[in-house]
Amino acid sequence: TERTLVLVKPDGVQRRLIGEVISRIERKGLDVVALELRTVPRELAEQHYAEHDGKPFFGDLLEFITSGQVLAAVVEGPRAIAAFRQLAGGTDPVEKATPGTIRGDFGLETQYNLVHGSDSPESAAREIKLWFPNL
Ligand code: ATP
Repeated sequence: TERTLVLVKPDGVQRRLIGEVISRIERKGLDVVALELRTVPRELAEQHYAEHDGKPFFGDLLEFITSGQVLAAVVEGPRAIAAFRQLAGGTDPVEKATPGTIRGDFGLETQYNLVHGSDSPESAAREIKLWFPNL
């Protein structure tokens, strides 16, 4: 079994898609083992997206992720990391994500792609520690 960090980003929360995302996670057979709605401090945003520091969209990304409440969750199950990325769909909601995925069904723009899921066991460990230090 494996754990992954899932975020419903500010666009997803604003659009009232929390239930939709959690429902898909549960229907897939994954377990939600931690869940918190929170406002993201700038420092946490910078640490979370450290790998994108220096990229042209980094400033906009930080501004966006700190612009409203985010739902953070730790999701657990067999191959949870790949399983959630399958549910999410590709980063670009139109060019990469297919219908039937969260981004494919609800997204239009890469910056506003609704959810985040860890992309590797190393990222998952790092991100879970960052968002849920007491877990
Ligand atoms: P996430 O890390 O949020 O799950 P991802 O792994 O699919 O997304 P990354 O390449 O890690 O995609 O990019 C992280 C986030 O940065 C994307 O989800 C998106 O919100 C934003 N982003 C990535 N590329 C662009 C871009 N070209 N323009 C605007 N925003 C972008």
